[in-house]
Amino acid sequence: QAKKEGRNTYRYHTEALSIAANERLIMENRLRHALAAGEFILHYQPLIDARAGHVIGVEALARWQPPDNTIVPPGKFIPIAEETGLIVPLGEWVLRTACEQGRAWIDTGLPPLVMAVNLSVRQFQSENLVELVQRILEETRLPAVCLELELTESMFMEHAERSIETLNRLKALGIQLAIDDFGTGYSSLTYLKRFPIDKLKIDQSFVRGLAHDPNDREIAATIIAMARGLKLGVLAEGIESEQQLDFLRQQGCDYYQGFLFHRPVPAIELEAWLREHSAPR
Ligand code: C2E
Ligand code: MG
Ligand code: MG
Ligand code: MG
Repeated sequence: QAKKEGRNTYRYHTEALSIAANERLIMENRLRHALAAGEFILHYQPLIDARAGHVIGVEALARWQPPDNTIVPPGKFIPIAEETGLIVPLGEWVLRTACEQGRAWIDTGLPPLVMAVNLSVRQFQSENLVELVQRILEETRLPAVCLELELTESMFMEHAERSIETLNRLKALGIQLAIDDFGTGYSSLTYLKRFPIDKLKIDQSFVRGLAHDPNDREIAATIIAMARGLKLGVLAEGIESEQQLDFLRQQGCDYYQGFLFHRPVPAIELEAWLREHSAPR
């Protein structure tokens, strides 16, 4: 009996595995085709200066828009793109498109905005990242100070020394570096003093509970105080309510991002808003 069950379990496992592998292969092919067919788009979400109240930049967020006109969120394709390596060409497309858009906004007369772009682990570890960023900045003529790369703590876990070298070379281009989803990773805090980081982005999981959860309030307040002490900028992401905003304001958070200010939208839908909410010249 046991033997029979064992064999069945084994069979179910291999079937489940091959179904998963097969689905991944189908998805990989769809994504590869989507990239070639130009089905990826970027939405942009404003980043707000807490004291002045105006927009200081935008974060570029990838979306997949298949021909049926649905919009697939990045949570559904970034992990697969990351696993299959497709993130490298996709990430290059994101970086170039975001920089082109940043330049286009400058050319329409908007004050220079920060263009924040998410990097994946695979991209960060790829050999030619620094050269790629440099080339894209040259090609798109986006001022280097306008580009901010968003990294995650998990990127620094292995190969700390190599990470520092890559970050120093990126900083030498004149760009900004931010740690995304700060507080959710497993890495040690020592990198904060050793790495050339400009900004921490407090993860939205802590912001969510700010109105009612004392632990989230404590964590957010601590991150803000630490950022101030280390002379890093600090941004809170995922702000949806006035109560959350009140708390962050009291704590002296530098920058805000969230649906309370603006949802991520296509560039064309943001331009008038950006003009209205930019810093006065
Ligand atoms: P992230 O970089 O932390 O981006 C912030 C996410 O929070 C975005 O989700 C944004 O739409 C969402 N968000 C912003 N404000 C609010 C709010 O007030 N409430 C709530 N509930 N959510 C809010 P999105 O666009 O679905 O992106 C999810 C993640 O996918 C991103 O998290 C990022 O890690 C990844 N991602 C997106 N685009 C790219 C990309 O081009 N390359 C890479 N490597 N990853 C990307
Ligand atoms: Mg981000
Ligand atoms: Mg984030
Ligand atoms: Mg996040």
